[in-house]
Amino acid sequence: MTDPTPTPGIHHVTCVAGDPQQNMDFWVETLGLRLVKRSINQDDPSTYHFFFADAEGTPGTSMTFFPWEDLSQGKVGSGQVSRTAFRVPEGSLDYWEDRFDEFGVEYDDRVERFGETVLPFRDPDGLPIELVAVEIPDDDPTVPWTEFVPAEYAIRGFHSVTLWLADPQQTEDLLRTMGLEEIGTEQAQGDTPGDERTRFAATGSVGNYVDVLPTIQSGRQGHGTVHHVAFQTPTDEDQQAMREAVQSKGLRPTAQIDRHWFRSVYFREFNGILFELATKGPGYTSDEPLDELGEKLVLPGKFEGQRDQIEAGLTDVTIPHAEPIESDD
Ligand code: ZN
Repeated sequence: MTDPTPTPGIHHVTCVAGDPQQNMDFWVETLGLRLVKRSINQDDPSTYHFFFADAEGTPGTSMTFFPWEDLSQGKVGSGQVSRTAFRVPEGSLDYWEDRFDEFGVEYDDRVERFGETVLPFRDPDGLPIELVAVEIPDDDPTVPWTEFVPAEYAIRGFHSVTLWLADPQQTEDLLRTMGLEEIGTEQAQGDTPGDERTRFAATGSVGNYVDVLPTIQSGRQGHGTVHHVAFQTPTDEDQQAMREAVQSKGLRPTAQIDRHWFRSVYFREFNGILFELATKGPGYTSDEPLDELGEKLVLPGKFEGQRDQIEAGLTDVTIPHAEPIESDD
């Protein structure tokens, strides 16, 4: 079997939230991401699925949520994505701390990690998030959304995910199979268990790092935890090859599932984290024009026929928008 095309990096990260309005307000208004799609959980149509991303929904920028109001608070632990980190432009962390003070967001002390400065904080559901200050090149593939946060400070897609693993070895081997390369190990800092952080790098420039920390601290899925992490397999052929490679390691990937904006394969890796492989297309603009992304509740395929029942079962939410600028005349 030939090696699969290495993954360029993270495609999206999907998390569990509580109150949908609180989730929407925080990710759109406080953090300044764009709501690029408002839909439903295709396996549980009584629940929303929100997609927050950069201005164009570029792969490697979308943080998505299932607001499962009935679920209880989760606990971050082993067998989970424990931290989700986003890139922000170098020099912008002072702006973010000021903004967090203004919005009443608690954050921790900055830490240095692999030569970069990291600002850890949590969303209203307690989900651990980090901002990492990096140099954003002129030809960066991400496009800042500037409705609430100026471009010079805006979040520019994922930096990394950190995996907490009881037994890292097989998962690390899987990451290598997926085309990531081990680039370093250093002493872990901050609110993390274990004492060593090992970093793996994918071939892309956004969401291209996966960090591994060994821990046996147990976790529980619920509000404030990551549900799964998706990695980019840009074409169907890339995905098929990666699927076979994963299967050859003894894992049990699903058949390809059409997720309307991308096509997906899912599997649980050796420590129990749900991994997804997602294609680049068709993308978030396949069913809404770029300038109207997120404004309407989009129901893929068969769900459109049940729109009335589905809408009746969902909590009303208001999408935050900046005040229109008053003109002088
Ligand atoms: Zn997904």
